Amino acid sequence: MYAAPVSSSITFAGSPLDRAGLRRRDGPWIAAQLESEQSRFLPFWRLNVLVKAEKPELAWATTAIRSVQDPRTGSVFLGMRDGVAHFALDISPLHDPVTELGLGGSASFVELRAAAATLSASDSAIAAQGRQMLDWHARHRFCAVCGRATSVKEAGYMRECDECDAQHFPRTDPVVIMLVESGDRCLLGRQAGWPAKMYSALAGFVEAGESLEEAVRREVQEEAGIRVGEVRYHASQPWPFPSSLMIGCLARAESEAVTVDKSELEDARWFARADILKSLAQPGAGGVFVPPPVAIAHHLIRFWAES
Ligand SMILES: [Zn+2]
Repeated sequence: MYAAPVSSSITFAGSPLDRAGLRRRDGPWIAAQLESEQSRFLPFWRLNVLVKAEKPELAWATTAIRSVQDPRTGSVFLGMRDGVAHFALDISPLHDPVTELGLGGSASFVELRAAAATLSASDSAIAAQGRQMLDWHARHRFCAVCGRATSVKEAGYMRECDECDAQHFPRTDPVVIMLVESGDRCLLGRQAGWPAKMYSALAGFVEAGESLEEAVRREVQEEAGIRVGEVRYHASQPWPFPSSLMIGCLARAESEAVTVDKSELEDARWFARADILKSLAQPGAGGVFVPPPVAIAHHLIRFWAES
């Protein structure tokens, strides 16, 4: 009954690259790939990714672009495809990259959430990996233990403290996002500042010492005052803004009366399945807008409504 959706429908998942994790510690091999004219380098400038102008595709560069990369990060190994190594690199130190790289009108740096609306699923997933890794490097230049500078190791998958040797690894922060159901109704909430009539599934960070099920029950109780019983995992989505993993669940309500936590949400209420189906068929119909397919909330809502 609760079959998972195909992963290709989840934006930012489904990268075609083989991450080749065992190669990351092979220094001479990585060095050779960095120098190879065949290797492909995906430039990011202040977390915006380079996209071609004439069609919505990632704009890859050659090894020469490493001359302008941020030396504190270097090039991060993304993986292999057809025998070709792929890297992401940060060129944020440039002031005007389009001019300095001589791109003319051939490509531009685009914010990834916006770019994902037109990029292929494969390109969106590759860019998500690159963005999350480069952002982690930018935030972890100094040791969280002793405060001294850290250096890049393992092709970008570790930073090691120059002083105390503490090792720091890229982080992923789990977030539960849950569609709470009660018979033919589902519970959706909205934040102040969202477009009018836009509602989505409730969500929140998993806290220390909490299982996913406990996080779902706590968040729904806190934000909407609803008691939740059964919780079932549905699907997950990498969300590299900056480093979340959205863990989509379906949750069965055991109470009805909604009490909104106004510090978190502007509103939360029950919606009839018929109105949700109308909105999915034509955005805004049924008196509600739900998130677009780029968000896992859309897939949770659609799955529930159509099942
Ligand atoms: Zn240290």
